[in-house]
Amino acid sequence: MKKYLVVGTGFSGAVLARQLVEHLPDCEIDIIDSRDHIGGNCHTERDAKTGIMLHKYGAHIFHTNRKDVWDYVNKFASFGNYKHRVIANTNRGIFSLPINLLTINQLFQKKMSPEEAKIFVRNLGDHTIHEPQNFEEQALKFVGKEIYETFFYGYTKKQWGCEPKELPASVLKRLPVRFDYNDNYFNDPYQGIPVNGYTDLIANIINHSRIHIHLNRPFIKESDSSKYNHIFYAGPIDGYYNFSEGRLSYRTIYFERIDAIGDFQGNSVINYTSMNENFTRLCEHKHFAPWESFETSVVYKEFSKETGESDIPFYPKHLVIDKEIFSKYNAIAMAEENISFIGRLGTYRYLDMHHVVEESLDFARTVIECIRSKSCIPSFSVK
Ligand SMILES: Cc1cc2nc3c(=O)[nH]c(=O)nc-3n(C[C@H](O)[C@H](O)[C@H](O)COP(=O)(O)OP(=O)(O)OC[C@H]3O[C@@H](n4cnc5c(N)ncnc54)[C@H](O)[C@@H]3O)c2cc1C
Repeated sequence: MKKYLVVGTGFSGAVLARQLVEHLPDCEIDIIDSRDHIGGNCHTERDAKTGIMLHKYGAHIFHTNRKDVWDYVNKFASFGNYKHRVIANTNRGIFSLPINLLTINQLFQKKMSPEEAKIFVRNLGDHTIHEPQNFEEQALKFVGKEIYETFFYGYTKKQWGCEPKELPASVLKRLPVRFDYNDNYFNDPYQGIPVNGYTDLIANIINHSRIHIHLNRPFIKESDSSKYNHIFYAGPIDGYYNFSEGRLSYRTIYFERIDAIGDFQGNSVINYTSMNENFTRLCEHKHFAPWESFETSVVYKEFSKETGESDIPFYPKHLVIDKEIFSKYNAIAMAEENISFIGRLGTYRYLDMHHVVEESLDFARTVIECIRSKSCIPSFSVK
C-alpha cells in the first residue's frame, strides 16, 4: 500500500483525496486539518441556539458553468435552489446589485431602455482617461464619478484598506454594469447551496474506507515528510517554508453576530458601500436556505482588515512585493519531489469553490497518470 498525506479538509484536499482512492486501489490516504472541523473556509454548522445553518467563515454560494463540476458535487449532496441577489445600501439610497438597468434608472431617476442606458453610461465615463493606471481610473473611465462614488469608492476602500487609486486597474476587468433587469449575482447556469451545508457535503466526499481523517492535527514537517510517499498541501505555502522568503500578504475578515427576531433585512446579503459605516456587509444566514423557516434570525456584520500572524488568511493581496516573494517559493517548490501545493493557500490565488473543485478533479487525473507511469508528480495543482 502507498501512503499519501493530504493537508487540509477544504474542497481542494477533499476532492483530490477522493479521486485518488477511487482510482488507485493500492493506496491509503491520511487527511489532516489543524482545525476541529472539516470543510476549510466553506464550513457550515447549525447554530445551537436557533437551528439556522451558519456559514461560519462568510457567505458561500456554489456556482459554476461546468456541468461535470455541478454533477460531481451533486453526487455528494442535495442542493437547494438558491439565486444570489445582493442589495446595496448607499448614501444615495437602496439599490440592486450588480449594477443593472433598475439600479441605473433609480439612481438617475430615469426610465431608460437598455440602448438608452448604454449610451447614457458611456457618456458618464471619463474620456480623458486613455490608459487607466489604477482601479479608480479604470472605474471612472467605465462608469464616471457618480456611479463610482456611490457603489465602488467606499466599499473598495473598506475591503482592501487602501485608496482605490493604490490598487491595480486589473481588479476591475470588465464594465461592471448590466443593461437589463437581471439581478442574479452570478452568470453561471448552475447555482445553489447544499441543503445540509458544505461541511456535510465535504464529509460525504471524504467518507471512504481508505481515507483516514484526523482533526486538530497540524502538519509537522519534521515527522510527516518522511512517512508518506507524497504530500498534497492545501495550507499556506509561505508557512510551509517557515516564511524563509517573507510573508505573503492577505486581507482577512471578522464578524460581529447580531441576534434578531423575524426578518432582519429581507435579503441574505446587503453591501454597505459608503464610508459612513465601518463594515462592508450584513449577511442574514437564514435567507441562504429559503426552503427552511425560522422565527428568529442570525446576522453577521462583516469587517475587513489586514491579516495578523494569528488571523486566518482570506483574500490574497497580490502586491508587487507578494509576486516577488511568491516567485521565490515557487522556485523552491518546483525543485521538490514529494510535495505538491494545492488550493487557494498552496497556490496563493483567490479561488471560488468551483475553481478549486475543477482544479482538484483535473489535478487528480495528472497525479494518477504520474503514479501509474512512475513519473514525478507536479509541484503545483496549477500549471
Ligand atoms: C468571505 C469569503 C466568501 C467566499 N464566498 C464564496 C462563494 O460565495 N462562492 C465560492 O465559490 N467561493 C467563495 N469563497 C471561496 C472559498 O472559500 C474557497 O474557494 C475555498 O475555501 C477554497 O478551498 P481550499 O481547500 O483551497 O482552502 P480552505 O477552505 O482554506 O482549506 C484549507 C484547509 O487547510 C487547513 N490547513 C492549513 N494549514 C494547515 C496545516 N499546516 N496543518 C493542517 N491543516 C492546515 C485549514 O485549516 C483549512 O481547513 C469565499 C471566500 C471567502 C474568504
